[in-house]
Amino acid sequence: MKMMKALVYEKAGRENASVKLVPYPSCGADDVIIKVMACGICKWAEIGHDTTGTGLARYPVINGHEFAGYVQEVGENVTTFQPGDRVTADNAVPCGKCWYCKNGKALFCENFGSLGHNINGGFAQYLVIRQDNVVKLPDTLSFDEASVAEPVACAIEALDRANIRPGEQVVVSGMGPHGIILAQLCHFSNAMRSVAVGLVQSRLDTLASYGVPTLLIDRNDQQANLKKLRAAFPDGIDCIIDTSGAWSMVETLVKLLKKGGRMIQYGSYHAAISLENPAQFLNNLHYNNQSYIGVSCQVNNFPRAVEYMGSGKCNVSTLVTHTFSLDDYFHALDTNKTDKSALKVVIHPNGDPNAPFVPEA
Ligand SMILES: [Zn+2]
Ligand SMILES: [Zn+2]
Repeated sequence: MKMMKALVYEKAGRENASVKLVPYPSCGADDVIIKVMACGICKWAEIGHDTTGTGLARYPVINGHEFAGYVQEVGENVTTFQPGDRVTADNAVPCGKCWYCKNGKALFCENFGSLGHNINGGFAQYLVIRQDNVVKLPDTLSFDEASVAEPVACAIEALDRANIRPGEQVVVSGMGPHGIILAQLCHFSNAMRSVAVGLVQSRLDTLASYGVPTLLIDRNDQQANLKKLRAAFPDGIDCIIDTSGAWSMVETLVKLLKKGGRMIQYGSYHAAISLENPAQFLNNLHYNNQSYIGVSCQVNNFPRAVEYMGSGKCNVSTLVTHTFSLDDYFHALDTNKTDKSALKVVIHPNGDPNAPFVPEA
C-alpha cells in the first residue's frame, strides 16, 4: 500500500499526536489529490487541537487548513485541473442539506465540514478534496504566500459584513496576520480613509510602504491612545474592525464610533474581560444606533482571496516569518506561541516548497 507522512491527532492534546506513516488518500471521481508544498499554522485552531480540541474537530484527524501545493492526481470526472497545476483549496465543506445551506447561508451550515478539523487536512504530504473547492494560483504567488489564502478569505468575509460605504472612516486594529491582511483590504475598499492601528512599528512600516495610513498606539496607555485617535478622527469612526481581541483597545475605539457606526469583532478573546458598566456600554450602542457584529470563518471566498493576493492589493510577502519541516511540527507550533516576531509559521511537508512538480511514476 502506498503510504505518506502526516501529523495525526488521535484525540485532542499533544500526547495523542505524532508524525507518522498513514495510507495515501484515495481519489474519488470528483476529487483532486494535492501534494501539499506549504501548510500554515492557524495559531488558535492548532493550539486547540494541541490542548482541548477545536469546536468543529472530530478525531482522529490530520489538522491544517491553510495549504497550497501541486495537483498530483485527478478523478475521472475532473476536467478543469491536471497534474502539476499549482493550487490552493477552500477547506470549507458545507453539507448542502441543512436549513442554512438550502437558504443560501452555507456559512452557518449545521454540519459544517472543514479540512483540518473534521476532515483530513494539510499537515500531510498529500490530501484529497473535491474539485469544486480547488482554486488555481497565479505564477506570481509562491506556495508559502498562497498558504495564506484561507486567512485572506476569512478577512474578505469581514469586509463583506463591514459593508464600507463611499467616504467612510475606518480603523483596523491589531496587527497580527489578520490585521495586516484586513488593513490592506480596507485600504482598497470604498473607505475615504482606513487606518491601521497597532503596537509594533515595524509592522506598521510594512503597511505604510504599501500606502496604508497607520497609527502607533501604546499597549498600556489608553488615555494617550484615545487622544491620538480623537485627533486622527475628529468626526469619529464609521467602522472599526478589531482583530486584536484586546478588550482595553476595543473599549477605547468604541468611544470614537460614530452614531450608526459598526464595530466588527474579528479577533476572539482568549482571556477574561471586564466591562466597567455593561448596561451603559450596551445602552450606548442602543441609543447611538450602533451595530456590534461578530465575524469568523468563510465559505466561497477563496477565488477572491487569490485574486487580491495575486494582484498585490493584499501583499502577503512578509507574512510568512518562519518555516519548518513536518517532522518539526511541534517545534513550529511552540515557536508560533512564544516567538513575538512570528506572524505566519508554515510547514513544508514535502521538503523544498520551490521544488518542481514530479509526475506520478
Ligand atoms: Zn485559519
Ligand atoms: Zn448545511
